[in-house]
Amino acid sequence: MNLNELLQKIYGKSISECSNEEIYTALLNKVDELAAEKASLNGKKKLYYISAEFLIGKLLSNNLINLGLYDDVKNQLAEFGKDICSIEEIENEPSLGNGGLGRLAACFLDSIATLGLNGDGIGLNYHFGLFRQIFKNNAQTTIPDKWLSDNCWLNRTDKIYPVIFGGAVVAARLYEINVTGYDSTTNKLRLFDIEGIDESMVTSGIDFDKTSITRNLTLFLYPDDSDDEGRLLRIYQQYFLVSAGAQFILDEAVQKGCNLYDLYDYAVIQINDTHPTMIILELIRLLVQRGIDMDKAIEIVSRTCAYTNHTILAEALEKWNISQLKKVVPQLVPIIEILDDKVRRKYDEPSVHIIDKDDRVHMAHIDIHYGFSVNGVAWLHTEILKNEELNHFYKIYPEKFNNKTNGITFRRWIMHCNPELSDYITELVGNGWKKNADKLEKLLEFRNNKKVLEKILEIKENKKIQLKNYLSDKQGFDIDENSIYDIQIKRLHEYKRQQLNALYVIHKYLEIKSGKKPNTPITVIFGAKAAPAYIIAQDIIHLILCLQELISNDPEVKPYLNVVMVENYNVTLAEKLIPACDISEQISLASKEASGTGNMKFMLNGAVTLGTEDGANVEIHQLVGDEYIYIFGDDSETVVERYKKNSYVAKEYYAKNKTLKTAVDFIIGEKLMKLGDKARLERLFKELTGKDWFMTFPDFDDYVKTREKAYSDYENRMEWAEKMLVNIAKSGYFSSDRTIEQYNKDIWKL
Ligand SMILES: *Cc1c(COP(=O)(O)O)cnc(C)c1O
Repeated sequence: MNLNELLQKIYGKSISECSNEEIYTALLNKVDELAAEKASLNGKKKLYYISAEFLIGKLLSNNLINLGLYDDVKNQLAEFGKDICSIEEIENEPSLGNGGLGRLAACFLDSIATLGLNGDGIGLNYHFGLFRQIFKNNAQTTIPDKWLSDNCWLNRTDKIYPVIFGGAVVAARLYEINVTGYDSTTNKLRLFDIEGIDESMVTSGIDFDKTSITRNLTLFLYPDDSDDEGRLLRIYQQYFLVSAGAQFILDEAVQKGCNLYDLYDYAVIQINDTHPTMIILELIRLLVQRGIDMDKAIEIVSRTCAYTNHTILAEALEKWNISQLKKVVPQLVPIIEILDDKVRRKYDEPSVHIIDKDDRVHMAHIDIHYGFSVNGVAWLHTEILKNEELNHFYKIYPEKFNNKTNGITFRRWIMHCNPELSDYITELVGNGWKKNADKLEKLLEFRNNKKVLEKILEIKENKKIQLKNYLSDKQGFDIDENSIYDIQIKRLHEYKRQQLNALYVIHKYLEIKSGKKPNTPITVIFGAKAAPAYIIAQDIIHLILCLQELISNDPEVKPYLNVVMVENYNVTLAEKLIPACDISEQISLASKEASGTGNMKFMLNGAVTLGTEDGANVEIHQLVGDEYIYIFGDDSETVVERYKKNSYVAKEYYAKNKTLKTAVDFIIGEKLMKLGDKARLERLFKELTGKDWFMTFPDFDDYVKTREKAYSDYENRMEWAEKMLVNIAKSGYFSSDRTIEQYNKDIWKL
């Protein structure tokens, strides 16, 4: 591509005369055109990855890399004094997801295209995304995240499907985003949007009239469901997604010659968590409507759909009241009753029924009975599903259960976000690792090579300075680039235990105050959004922000310890934070984190994990060995037992552990009370000492000890560099290319 010629043609100007916006727009259109030219030949069978979320991140650089144009464009821009990073800045990050589940879907689309598989994503086009997070008075406030603009990757199509609700018929228009594969073909992300959406109905913050569904349906991802109107709106959204999706899938199959009886030869539908579960019901309904009898329709659909479970947290396993479903989707209720009846005829065990005694419909149960595959997302998670949470189902359908340990796309999570490390790896082991990530193991040959280790440290230092400058520019933080960057970035949830990290910060603060100073200064970085209705999560954010204020104004502590909570954590920020990280905090309560994928991104970029034996940390631990990871805390068996016996009493730990008590008391001590909101801090204190449902207290001592060990090991720079190298070398297993190959071999069979 000759960029100068292109710009001359469009604007009659050279690169140096064009504004960054003009260059961005020209590149967007040209790259999208080139991407479209690589659209794949339609094979007979096609995968549809249906998901409420696709957290895709900015696309310009990613697409340039995948099309093999990145270096060329970067150099052409540089020749005229333009920096590709400032062109990237123009792009808004699409706000179509919330956390790991949505990011996983995005990584999968990249790998599906890269492997040349015939597969599209199906989702919704939320105009204001989740929300944009702004901190005010040490608390999270939320405003709409207006990411759509004339210059974005979303292309409008002429396809429109009617979606019929209890009280209304609406039109679903199909939009598309091209999904480029690395050195491969292009697939599509198909996003449905309601015609006649009314953006002006958002009043203050992210509030809007939740009842006016014909105007509000695709305004936000996960509208607040703490009231009935919100819950109804979620059901409306879910049905909108699956009804339009099902019609689209049937259309494509029929066009290719499917007679509906052989649907499973043309389509396989991967249901990403329970949000799109109703596609099973909708497909059955549509097949019956087209003349297939009910039993046959159920069989066909069951052979077409597969389900991925993402969590064992009870509150996340969706259950809708039958009365709500009757209101929103009355046409599906008789089908649910038939499916439930079939189950009841075979199995007495109430925990496998679809409709429970309180007339609630368990969405996951529909997926498990009427899909052909159930997969967990990491080894431990799948074991817990089989042996604990879904054990009654496992006994019925052992053959359906399988594990697919999550992965991440190495194109975005190293080649794009850390070209320095990426290029150096290529220099050492050649180019092959980019398409065959296992080849990273060749790096192990260099584990005792001083020059290589020094270079790896130098790259890390460089990325740390880049992050320092970025956060200084964008958010006004002043970070010491010579400090240890200790980072915890992920959705805020009690089970992820940001509160444990915060208690450590308090402990360290008090130590420094008493004269015990760390050898190397420490920068503790947090990034997290919290669901607006999740009170305790808001309180934890408040605590962290108060600690940030307290410490940044304390000249005695500031040279040794800093707390930085970045605002509006998203993919773009993750791409800056992860390459700069020394210590990756993965401290969930063992058994509660299904997999995690942040842990994989950090490992790939040479951070060392400090974590519990949970999710994919277990597999990271196995791969690198004890000396190359910091594991602490109770294991999942202990935790599961403790829940079963209901034997945990937070107060006991609080009473007998003086160090812990001092740190916990600090939350409601004079210093923080002066800075913060009394009600919030007291509520958090009460929650911790009275309940601590996610058991931070039992792990506190071991966490402090293990974190200190990591900090002291950090002092030996050569040994630390070897740890970094081993982590990078062993991270190949976590390429989403591997994950997708396994999905295809075991489930999709494309
Ligand atoms: C990877 C990623 C996540 C998932 O992080 P976990 O630590 O696995 O929960 C969430 N948000 C963003 C923006 C990500 O890139």
